[in-house]
Amino acid sequence: MNQMRVKKIFIDESGRKTMEINVLPEKYCTFDCVFCPLGHNGVTTSKAFHFSETDPFLLSLSEQIDRENPDVLFINSMGEAFSNDQLEDFISLARAKGVKVSLYSNGFLLGEPEYARLASMCDEVSCEVKAVDEASFQKFQRPFEGCTLEQYLDNMAGFRKNYKGELVAYVCLVKGMNDGSECAARIRENLSRVNPDRVIVETVTDDKFGKGFGVSSDCIKKMQREILKD
Ligand code: SF4
Repeated sequence: MNQMRVKKIFIDESGRKTMEINVLPEKYCTFDCVFCPLGHNGVTTSKAFHFSETDPFLLSLSEQIDRENPDVLFINSMGEAFSNDQLEDFISLARAKGVKVSLYSNGFLLGEPEYARLASMCDEVSCEVKAVDEASFQKFQRPFEGCTLEQYLDNMAGFRKNYKGELVAYVCLVKGMNDGSECAARIRENLSRVNPDRVIVETVTDDKFGKGFGVSSDCIKKMQREILKD
């Protein structure tokens, strides 16, 4: 099955009609998180690739945008959308049609000038702030060789300094990785370094890993209070 497609159309929390798409044929990501809902058979990479499925999908997407007339194109892929070397074509297509673009990324590649340029073309960019120290980052998120948490945070912070759109940080609470009482302060520190416009605290909920790595709703509320307090 071709995974590169419109995943769903929904109304977001701001009442905007949103078309969510995947621009990758299979999982390509800079990390291989132990709790990844996409599984572990993908490619762990920081590079961009050319996919033959992209041009046909761009054609069909253009028609679907004309038909559905969404307010937002939400690029939320099987891993890291920057891995598609034609990501700019998706962004340009939406912009040419007057549709806002929201890009979901784990945030690591925002430190690369070319990827930062692409992200800057989007109205909203989402990134992730969840690891609390180097050891847990390496153990739970398993990045490509040589990648460190310091570098990860620096990449997002550097992008923030120049980005004029809305930067949203997702804090995913993972059992055993960042749900301990001492973790909230560390997450706050990392968030203040990245300086997003908005923070969303959540947990792992998918069928496969939700039981093993998800935290309780009480834990989310408690951590949320600690992380977001003024
Ligand atoms: S960053 Fe997201 S897509 Fe990439 S391996 Fe981790 S959970 Fe999966």
